[in-house]
Amino acid sequence: MCYTCGCKLPYEDHGDPANIVEDHLKRAGDTDTIKHAGVEQAKQNLLELLEIQREAGDLANPKQSY
Ligand SMILES: [Zn+2]
Repeated sequence: MCYTCGCKLPYEDHGDPANIVEDHLKRAGDTDTIKHAGVEQAKQNLLELLEIQREAGDLANPKQSY
C-alpha cells in the first residue's frame, strides 16, 4: 500500500520511502537472518508479531521482546 497508509496499493510508495511497500518485504524475506525463506515467510512472521502486539494492546508501544 503501501502497507502503512491505508491505500491498499502494495507497490505504491507515494514518492516517500518511509511508506512500507512490497519491495521492503521482499528484501526482508531474503536476509541471512530469515535464511532467505522468502516474502511469504517474512509476511507470516510480521503478521504473527503484529497480532501478538495487538492482542497485548501494545501496537503503539511494543515491548523489547515477545
Ligand atoms: Zn499508501
